[in-house]
Amino acid sequence: MKIDGACSCGNIRIEGEADPNTVSVCHCTDCQTASGSAFRVSVPVKGDAFKVSGKPTIYIKTTAESGNPRAQAFCPICGASLYSTTPGEGQQAMYIVRVGMLNQRDQLMPGRQIWWRSARNWVSGLEGIRKLEKQV
Ligand SMILES: [Zn+2]
Ligand SMILES: [Zn+2]
Repeated sequence: MKIDGACSCGNIRIEGEADPNTVSVCHCTDCQTASGSAFRVSVPVKGDAFKVSGKPTIYIKTTAESGNPRAQAFCPICGASLYSTTPGEGQQAMYIVRVGMLNQRDQLMPGRQIWWRSARNWVSGLEGIRKLEKQV
């Protein structure tokens, strides 16, 4: 399916093609630190179908829990997390796009959870935590 989205401030826009059956929740500690949350939700997008407008800031994370250096892209203005990819110049083979920024987020349901060994111990109990439709 076609996917598109923008960061919080609209400075960066992304377009591509993604398979809705390949969405993952990642519980690794790098995702926790980078997102300021308990996990990140991402979907792979092939490089030949991937377009970015605007100029993301790239941070090369060399000590990722997976052992592979990763280029982490975020908006230099609003700081929104956009995608990760392999480090290097030009178009890369694959981009792992953060589902939270996509207009199709309702259709992109996770099919697996990775790095479960570092998952916060309360994530399985979210269903039981008190819910408010808004902030209060
Ligand atoms: Zn932005
Ligand atoms: Zn992760």
